[in-house]
Amino acid sequence: MTKELVGIIGGSGLGDALAEQIKDVQIKKISTPFGKPSNDIMVGTFGKRKIAFINRHGRGHKFGPSEVPFAANIFALKKIGVRTIISTCAVGSLREEIKPAELVVVDQIIDKTYKRQNSFFAGFGAVHCEMSEPVCGRLSGLIVKAGRNIGVKVHPKGTYVCMEGPQFSTRAESLMHKGWGGDLIGMTAMPEAKLAREAQICYALIALVSDFDCWRGKRAMDKQTLLREIIGNLNTASQNCMELVRHVLVRHRRNEEIADSGCGCRKSLQLAVWIKEEQIKKAVKKRLGVLFE
Ligand SMILES: [Zn+2]
Repeated sequence: MTKELVGIIGGSGLGDALAEQIKDVQIKKISTPFGKPSNDIMVGTFGKRKIAFINRHGRGHKFGPSEVPFAANIFALKKIGVRTIISTCAVGSLREEIKPAELVVVDQIIDKTYKRQNSFFAGFGAVHCEMSEPVCGRLSGLIVKAGRNIGVKVHPKGTYVCMEGPQFSTRAESLMHKGWGGDLIGMTAMPEAKLAREAQICYALIALVSDFDCWRGKRAMDKQTLLREIIGNLNTASQNCMELVRHVLVRHRRNEEIADSGCGCRKSLQLAVWIKEEQIKKAVKKRLGVLFE
């Protein structure tokens, strides 16, 4: 049986670092009905497993969070055969116990974004995917398990508040996000997780903690020192995250547990398409055919 490609999405911090670690790289230029992805996709070997890597913010951090072509990225990964995505992103911590440079396997997301294309199905008809568990619990579980062996603090769950940005929160907003039950604040988990669900892909998200969000008040420190500290935390978290992803992939280099075709995420459209079959325009269905595979 051919092993499935595992998709990796690199966010702030991890993107460039991971790209350098991939071996036997082939560059794939993929076109989609939603435009070009952030980057050409790098297909190669990492952690003894074939992966397809995409740098979310593009080369040289070209796309801010509101400009990332999320739909093209997810569609392109699905088109080249990805059914499992491990995504990564930088976040601020909303909790004393989640410290800078640590990792969190996100289990819940609150979506506050409002400027982004959050569905593939505009113009198609009514499609309502189940989102009560916004990430794949099975895949997240494999990551949490692997995280016990890397000697780094990996929090097994956390609620990620996804804001539009690009500015960071005001203190009042930061306190509100805490009050909502948020553990982390970031700008990129959504609509990525929603689109992965619509594409019937198993999706897990590892958050890299760069610093505490402003609820905590900043320590008396000049801005340059603070910035250096944040970059340092992100670099440490990136190295740890790379180690974690490598562990997951090495552990699952042979068996297909990571690519379990029976996982519910891979049937997410089964009951989600409310539009009657006869109402769906043939050309539109053909254009989006990849999502239904
Ligand atoms: Zn799944």
